Amino acid sequence: ALPLSEVDPEIAQAVADELGRQRGTLEMIASENFVPRAVLEAQGSVLTNKYAEGYPGRRYYGGCEFVDVAENLAIERAKALFGADHANVQPHAGAQANVAVMTAFLKPGDKLMGLSLAHGGHLTHGMKLNHSGKFYEIAAYGVDPETGVIDMDQVREQALAEKPQMIVAGWSAYPRQLDFAAFREIADEVGAIFWVDMAHFAGLVAAGLHPNPVPYADVVTSTVHKTLAGPRSGIILCKEEHKKKINSAVFPGQQGGPLMHVIAAKAVAFKIAAGEDFRLKQQRTVEGAKILAERLVAADVAEAGVSVLTGGTDVHLVLVDLRNSELDGKQAEDLLHEVGITVNRNAVPDDPRPPMVTSGLRIGTPALASRGFGEAEFREVADIIAEALKPGADTESLKTRVATLAEGFPLYEGLESW
Ligand code: PLP
Repeated sequence: ALPLSEVDPEIAQAVADELGRQRGTLEMIASENFVPRAVLEAQGSVLTNKYAEGYPGRRYYGGCEFVDVAENLAIERAKALFGADHANVQPHAGAQANVAVMTAFLKPGDKLMGLSLAHGGHLTHGMKLNHSGKFYEIAAYGVDPETGVIDMDQVREQALAEKPQMIVAGWSAYPRQLDFAAFREIADEVGAIFWVDMAHFAGLVAAGLHPNPVPYADVVTSTVHKTLAGPRSGIILCKEEHKKKINSAVFPGQQGGPLMHVIAAKAVAFKIAAGEDFRLKQQRTVEGAKILAERLVAADVAEAGVSVLTGGTDVHLVLVDLRNSELDGKQAEDLLHEVGITVNRNAVPDDPRPPMVTSGLRIGTPALASRGFGEAEFREVADIIAEALKPGADTESLKTRVATLAEGFPLYEGLESW
């Protein structure tokens, strides 16, 4: 039982360095979070040793009595958290959950309608190099070029013209809530399956701060590691009538042995997500994003050609529009990295700059809310970002302000490494 530091000092060092990076910088990548220590423990457990093909009570391997306990807890907690008839907690990641849903409901060549990648959709909703774009015909909808918002009349018109077999609502970069009732109506009108991918906003749904898609959709997928703050992985929720189809699309349809250590960690994350502290944290997350959006539409920032898509946010992220700024997305990302804030550049709809450069930034508040940030700290972060995006920023003083914030909110206190 030699420790990692002795068996593999190089990897041990990389892990320790990454912990140092997470502690010393401000993480604002909208899809990232810090999992609670209890999630790390479950995920780093001996459950990783166990093969458990099949489902609880119906496994193809012996010795599954304890992993069955873990998987049943994950299933029951996910169902309770989101009010779903059925939960499949085995998808290794969000992309795998999505492939399972597509293979459950579509034949190759069927038509899928989703938000285009260029307008904030995800790769798995029909990008041409992805499984979704290779195996299915794609009819992508977009956001309104004026408002930046999805116009449900346009979606309806397009659905009537395209007659897709499945419609997906969900996004990776969109700052507003979706109208699930309107999507459901459109899906019914054209006879399509209605799928929601709530990967980004699932934590807000769990906290009651975002409409829940479960009552409207035939099937809902999510990652567990974004706003939900669980282990890197996916889940599928569906109506009872689709349970068999979904389960067999995951196993044996697509995956072999489930990651039982990750499933145990999902169970822990769902338990935590049902609590009051989690709800308050999601509230700080959304308030923090609103504070950031308000600061980035102020006059001094507007003067530098910086604005915010849709003028604000209802969720955990802000999309910064740099089309009129001298800074492009790459330069702005690098500049914030230099002062100790991690964000990602992101194309704005119909971006004039190339995809590796872009004219936007996606900035999220979940990880900092997990770290304990509240209104005062989010105001300070918003000010730092606003200053950094204006010409002639004093990066040295901004670095000091970032370091002060980071030091004030210690991360994984007491852990040397993990
Ligand atoms: N769906 C959406 C909407 C996402 O934003 C993401 C991740 O960015 C995924 C699916 C894929 O999740 P994963 O990276 O776990 O495969």
